[in-house]
Amino acid sequence: MATPIAPYPPTGIHVVIVGAGFGGLAASIEARLKGHTVSVLERSPRWEQHGDIISISQNAGRVLSRWDPAWIGDKLRKICMNHKSFMIHTHKGEFIFEQPVVAPDPERPTYNGHRADIHRVFFDYAEHLGVRFHMGRRVTAYKEDPKLGKAWVECADGETFIGDVVIGADGVRSRARRLALGLDDRVKPTGYSVYRAWFNAEEHGILDDPLTREFAERGDTHTGWLGPDVHLLVATCKGGRELSWVCTHKDDEDIDESWSYPGRVEDVLKLLEDWDPRCRAIVAKTPSLVDWKLVHRAPLPTWITPGGHICLIGDAAHPFLPTSIQGCSQAIEDGVALATLLSLTHTDKQVPDAQKIPSALKMYERLRYDRVKSAQKKGEEVRDMWHKANWTEVRSNPGSIKLPREDWLLKHDCERFMRNMYRRALAELGGGDKIPITSLAASRESDEFLVEMPPTPVATPKREVEDPMNGHR
Ligand SMILES: Cc1cc2nc3c(=O)[nH]c(=O)nc-3n(C[C@H](O)[C@H](O)[C@H](O)COP(=O)(O)OP(=O)(O)OC[C@H]3O[C@@H](n4cnc5c(N)ncnc54)[C@H](O)[C@@H]3O)c2cc1C
Repeated sequence: MATPIAPYPPTGIHVVIVGAGFGGLAASIEARLKGHTVSVLERSPRWEQHGDIISISQNAGRVLSRWDPAWIGDKLRKICMNHKSFMIHTHKGEFIFEQPVVAPDPERPTYNGHRADIHRVFFDYAEHLGVRFHMGRRVTAYKEDPKLGKAWVECADGETFIGDVVIGADGVRSRARRLALGLDDRVKPTGYSVYRAWFNAEEHGILDDPLTREFAERGDTHTGWLGPDVHLLVATCKGGRELSWVCTHKDDEDIDESWSYPGRVEDVLKLLEDWDPRCRAIVAKTPSLVDWKLVHRAPLPTWITPGGHICLIGDAAHPFLPTSIQGCSQAIEDGVALATLLSLTHTDKQVPDAQKIPSALKMYERLRYDRVKSAQKKGEEVRDMWHKANWTEVRSNPGSIKLPREDWLLKHDCERFMRNMYRRALAELGGGDKIPITSLAASRESDEFLVEMPPTPVATPKREVEDPMNGHR
């Protein structure tokens, strides 16, 4: 088990975060652990049970392994999948390859489970650390004044929240893109959509049917069927008691503001007409499902405002396809990167006070941008590899169809990387040598290798007693 981060002494930096998804929550937790004061504004009036399966890969699991295990690791292990391998088939049901899961590593755990279950664990930990949540606040305007060194947001109800830095973590249909950065915020269809479901396997007859029993009777399983332009993934969780499936397929319908629409079992059964009968048997037992239109946005030219006090993170900055299995993990990395860089500039006497926040934000973008772009590409590559598989070739090399697990992506230690690159990034900002792309994107150089993490300051855990909004609202 990694040593949990000791809370840092208070920095006096007030971070206002818009959106309590995984990006916003991870940023809030990391910012609190590093001594910043944090307010999170979330448009939902209360915490709600939403979504279905989501994955936290090793690179983000490493971040979580430094958080208090009693609040995070111990709880997540109880509610997340515990399967041995990923079984890959053709859509007709021919078994092709068994990909074992990565050997468990306490320093870099992986968590796959229900989005709402995992989200609740993050939410509770953030509250425990003293993050102030303001629910039911829909942000409608972002402003900054570099001379004052402040940024603020306005909410639909007329309230204003001011901080030293504002983080827009408002998801794939981000308004912050337009409101803060003035960028065209229209989402574009990807041409694909995902039917998704999560339900109780026992209650819905999975164990009673000889065609479906195998997926739940001996604990958790993960199985994929790959067909032309369609793939179906089935996962069981909590000892096989709960079952989730996602079916990605072509869809050119227009999209609007909802992240999901109700879907119809009969539409999925039609799509899977000549598929392995096991797939159809699972889908036929599904009580309800959603149709999640996959949206895309052109890469943003920047994630930060000209004044350097507002930035975007997570899906707001860079949406991911589900086949990348990185959307949530990269959002978590963003939060760690920002909180770390804010601490580093804060204590760096070489950085003038007025430049501390803008420099941290510029370095955040510089050190994250190329890595995120490389990770995004992986999602398209996997989808195309699966949907356009040449099965004759795959049969002669079955391992070629497995999910890629590359070191540059999964072994990355985001916090360590920020600390390691800090001096070079600061020098570049001041007109010094340009950091080569190999140090920033998909290469071994961008990895954790051989860089020692400085010890975290030892401080008595401290919850703020004063109202952090005092004088800031
Ligand atoms: C309801 C919901 C269900 C999801 N279910 C799944 C799932 O089952 N599987 C999966 O892989 N991914 C799911 N996702 C997407 C996934 O959570 C993200 O792709 C990923 O975790 C990156 O997180 P994020 O924090 O950047 O964005 P998100 O998780 O989308 O979080 C954005 C947050 O910002 C809030 N917000 C938006 N606009 C405003 C505003 N103007 N003012 C204040 N708050 C605002 C939203 O309510 C939301 O809580 C879901 C997202 C949402 C919002």
